[in-house]
Order: sequence, then C-alpha cells, then structure tokens
Amino acid sequence: MGMRKVIFIILDGLGDRPNPNLKWLTPLQSAEIPNMDLMAAKGILGMQYPISPGIPPGSDTGHLSLFGYDITSEYPGRGIFEAMGENISLERGIAFRANFATVEEKDGKFIVRDRRAGRISGEDAEELAHEISEMDLLNGDVKATFKHTLEHRGFLILEGPHLSSEVTDVDPHEVGYPVLEPIPINDDAKKTAEALKEFLVRAYLSLKDHEVNKRRSREGKLPANFILPRGAASPPKLEPFSSRWGFKPAAVAAGPMYKGIAKALGFDVFQPEGATGLPDSNFSSKIGKALDLLNAYDFIYVHVKGTDVASHKKDPLLKVRVLEEVDIALEPLTDPPEDLLVVVTGDHATPCTIGKHSGDPVPILFFGKGLPKDDSTNFQELDAYTGGAGWFTGSDLMNLILNYSDRALEYGLRPVSRKIRYIPRVNQLTPFIL
Ligand SMILES: [Zn+2]
Repeated sequence: MGMRKVIFIILDGLGDRPNPNLKWLTPLQSAEIPNMDLMAAKGILGMQYPISPGIPPGSDTGHLSLFGYDITSEYPGRGIFEAMGENISLERGIAFRANFATVEEKDGKFIVRDRRAGRISGEDAEELAHEISEMDLLNGDVKATFKHTLEHRGFLILEGPHLSSEVTDVDPHEVGYPVLEPIPINDDAKKTAEALKEFLVRAYLSLKDHEVNKRRSREGKLPANFILPRGAASPPKLEPFSSRWGFKPAAVAAGPMYKGIAKALGFDVFQPEGATGLPDSNFSSKIGKALDLLNAYDFIYVHVKGTDVASHKKDPLLKVRVLEEVDIALEPLTDPPEDLLVVVTGDHATPCTIGKHSGDPVPILFFGKGLPKDDSTNFQELDAYTGGAGWFTGSDLMNLILNYSDRALEYGLRPVSRKIRYIPRVNQLTPFIL
C-alpha cells in the first residue's frame, strides 16, 4: 500500500462539557451519530489540545496550530485571514480592519462618540461604503479601496509602491478619546502614514453630510461619519502547507475566515452549492465535494461552522442536531477507499454551558483501512479519554497525520533539506542533470 490521502474534518468548537439540558451528557454523547461511532469503533480516538492545555484557541490560531504552524512566531493576525476570505488581494497592499464610527469635531480633533456608529449595517453601510470605495491619494501615488463586510465592519486597503504596515493605530479603542495620528514606526512607513491621514480626512468630508447620515440623525441614529482603521497588516509570509507537509491541499469551506486561512496556506478553496458556514449548511454537498477532490488533491480540509455557532448561542440541542446532520453526510466515509485516512476533530472546545471558547481538550478520531484500532465504541469524550491515540497537542497532529498516511520520513534521513519531514513525491525532487 502506498501513501494515503487524507480527509481532515474540523467540526468547529467541537469540544464541550456535560450539559444540564442534555441530562448532563455532552453534545457528542447525546447525539445519535452512528457513522462517527462506526468510524470510532473501527479506528482510534484521542484527545488533543489545539494549542496547549488550558489555552483557549481562537478559531484562526487553533487552525494554524493544527496545520502545524508555530503560532508564537508565525501568526500574522486575524485581519489577514478575514481579508483573504473576502477575496481582498493583498499582493501589493497593506490591509487595515476598519469600522464605521461616529466622531464629533472639537478644537480640530475628532472625538470618538461610538466606535461602531450605532452598529450601522445593511443598506446604510453599503451606501456609505460606496461613497468612499475608491480614492486616489498622494496625487495618485497610492490607491485606497474601502470594502464593507458585515455590520459596521470593513477593510481599508492601500496599494502603491513603498508602503509598510509599520504605522501606529488611529483607533483609540475607547469612546471619548480623540482619533490618533498615524505615526510611522520606521522610515519605510512615512508614506503609508501620509496616505492614511489623507484618507481619513477625505472620508470624513464625504461621509459627514451624506444623505444617509442626515437621515440617520433625523431618526435619532448615530451618523457613520468616520472610518476607524486598525491593525495594519501586510500579506503573511507563511510557508505553504504543500512545502511544509508535502501534500497537495484543497479546502471545502464557506466561512470567510476559514477560506482565508486556507488561501493564506496555499490551499485551493471550494465552496460547494448549499455550503453556508451556518447550522443550515448542506453537509452532504461538502463531503461529496471532498470525495470528488480526492481525484486531484491528497489532503482535503473540510470545515463545519454550525457546531460552533450553536455553542456560542448556548444551544446544546442545536449542536446535537448539527452533529446528527453532519453524521448523515459522513456515511460514505464509513467504508472508505483503501488509501484514505479520515481525521475528525475540532479547532477548540466551545462548551454550550459557557458560550465561548475554552482551553478544554477536543476529541479526535483517526480512521482508515488497515490502521490501528482501539476498543472505543463511540465518538465521545469518555472513549476519547482512554483512546489509543492518547493525549497530544495540536503541534503534534500533522506528524501523526504524516505517520498514519504513511508519508513520514524516518528521523535522521534528509534527502532534500533539513526541515523536510515527509517522503517527497517524485515531482517535488530536483533531478541532477548531466
Ligand atoms: Zn473555531
């Protein structure tokens, strides 16, 4: 048998705790999930801490850690992933996360009255964003693009030669404080700071007397008269997943941030029909797409957001329902091709009792024909605690996946470079030419 391919399923926020509304069972224990149970019975279970015991991961940092990236040195910030998920190209630019905000002009300063402009959203936000969507700054040397995303949020992108993300925040992050001057942290960022100042003033002049804001004021709503950018970031220099781990990767995801993470790591990203990134997503269409992609790729990451959405709503019954619907979609994987490794886990725990991410461990399942099996019978915490894969941290996961997909290179052999831990495919090698 040669090297296996991998389907890697992340049920976002899978980890959980006993819940009084489930007779003190966890959602995994309470759910009817015969297909995951069958894979647990035929495979091995374990428990993993995505980052480290007791550390609540963010979805982005949890994912990066599981994909084998060192979040202490390689994490580029969440804004990048959100921007990439919204198809904002960062090849030549600097991206800022940005809010519509409400300011009051006082003694030439802009005092922040609301950092979210009364949580403006919908058509008001779209119409105002349209007004400032494109701007030429510094006599045409820098191009600014503003893109509205959800509610009061958006992105400001500056494009042009010699820009740098090394500028301080203009957002004071507190109400009642003045908007701050963007200060270049080094000489490279002087032009960025100048362009940003011009954008802030011109955006204010375009927004303050806009019809939408006049109407909002009449209706007693806060006007969205200012754009507050924060967290300047340049494109991440993350090593592609393919060169780090030797796989040709694809992602099946719908949530913008998850698509962004996958793109940032060089995955080809697919969002099949009916995939929404919500509890009502079409899970069968996602698993079907993953199986199709096995023809052209050898590592398929499938992201399911519904479990985490239910957890944040503190709705254990909804989480159970999402797990049961996902389980129906997983039926084709219970009798997998011989060369497939199936991995099912979560990027962190989101216990429904607390409604936020926690540092609890997350159950994990490895299943493939001819791979080890333990005496687990159900995909649930008690079996996972004593499962054959043991307890480990997220940084070990990719090594385990290399191992169970029969791609791990024997320690000490270094045919390509010191860093490489996988058996390279022929097309990844550089031949010596006579
Ligand atoms: Zn998550």
